[in-house]
Amino acid sequence: MSRPNLLDLSRDQLTATLTGWGQPAYRAAQIENWLYKQHAASVDEMTSLPKALRQRLADEFVVQPLSMVTALESADGFTRKSLFALPDGREIEAVLMRYDKRNTLCISTQAGCAMDCPFCATGQMGFMRNLTAGEIVAQVLIYARQLGAEGKHVTNIVFMGMGEPLANYAETWKAIRRLNDPDGFNLGARNMTLSTVGLVSAIRQMSKEPEQVGLAVSLHAPDDELRNTIVPINRRFPLAMLLEAVRDYIILTHRRVTFEYALMDHLNDSEAQADQLAQLLDGLLCHVNLIPLNPTPGSPWSGSSDERVYAFRDRLKAAGIPTTVRLRRGIDIAAGCGQLHNAHSQQRKAAPNPEV
Ligand code: SAH
Repeated sequence: MSRPNLLDLSRDQLTATLTGWGQPAYRAAQIENWLYKQHAASVDEMTSLPKALRQRLADEFVVQPLSMVTALESADGFTRKSLFALPDGREIEAVLMRYDKRNTLCISTQAGCAMDCPFCATGQMGFMRNLTAGEIVAQVLIYARQLGAEGKHVTNIVFMGMGEPLANYAETWKAIRRLNDPDGFNLGARNMTLSTVGLVSAIRQMSKEPEQVGLAVSLHAPDDELRNTIVPINRRFPLAMLLEAVRDYIILTHRRVTFEYALMDHLNDSEAQADQLAQLLDGLLCHVNLIPLNPTPGSPWSGSSDERVYAFRDRLKAAGIPTTVRLRRGIDIAAGCGQLHNAHSQQRKAAPNPEV
């Protein structure tokens, strides 16, 4: 059995463990301060704790469950992507995108994904397992530590890495609360956005959560027939059902929802499809994010040309739908979801480690 992850303990659980060891309860606050404010990567750094306690913590818990497999910086220096190994050897990805005033971190909630979207690199690898809340939070703490060394902070978090966050609902929300908690990482919920393939019952559940996390929905097609192929879960939760859940979400939360739409050349990017999309979203408090597909080796589709992207955008805008085109960030470092893992395993297959 591997040791439990310290980051998976709630404040109450941590306090109970420490008092069980005969430690004063205030040690829990000290340890949480080291973890979530100082971003300590090991107990050795927790110098305000007695040595014997540090030793016991190190013997019984893992403090940082992720080890770096590989990290890539884009040529322009704005995007940094890391592939991390979990204690069981599974791999996940997280990406840092630096903007003028923001440092946005994109993190994973599952190793692999069961949603099977054929254009997505993570979808192509299949589902391995859910991450625990501690493993989700650990991705943020690693980057916070790196940014901290430059005097910078993680300002935004998007749950848009590997996996379907709403299919790992309980652990994802535990992570959100820990990241939001003033005694935890203390990042405003409004600075977090969760992206879903469109799991209707979970969207309904999310609309009742007190934390004001943003919702993004991966739409990618304006009709059921096409969406059934690009986003197979559409067969279970067709567009009418999905949009009804989103409409109710907006009524309950008064928050603007983002729709993501990956433009694929001559598949979902015609002006007629833009009109159909505009009709579908008519009257909704929303925003459309267009992103030309970042083609994966296994995908039969390619990204739309700039010309088609802008024509699609103009059409939506003309219909009164707020729309932006997302910059292709980190395309040179395979920053699309799951792509680094796949590129890395290809490399390992091609060039086996000579020492093995
Ligand atoms: N499972 C969640 C979050 C993961 S991916 C979801 O489906 O929303 C985050 C976004 O990236 C989704 O909109 C997803 O459809 C999109 N995406 C995945 N692969 C892509 C690719 N190769 N090119 C462009 N967008 C991609």
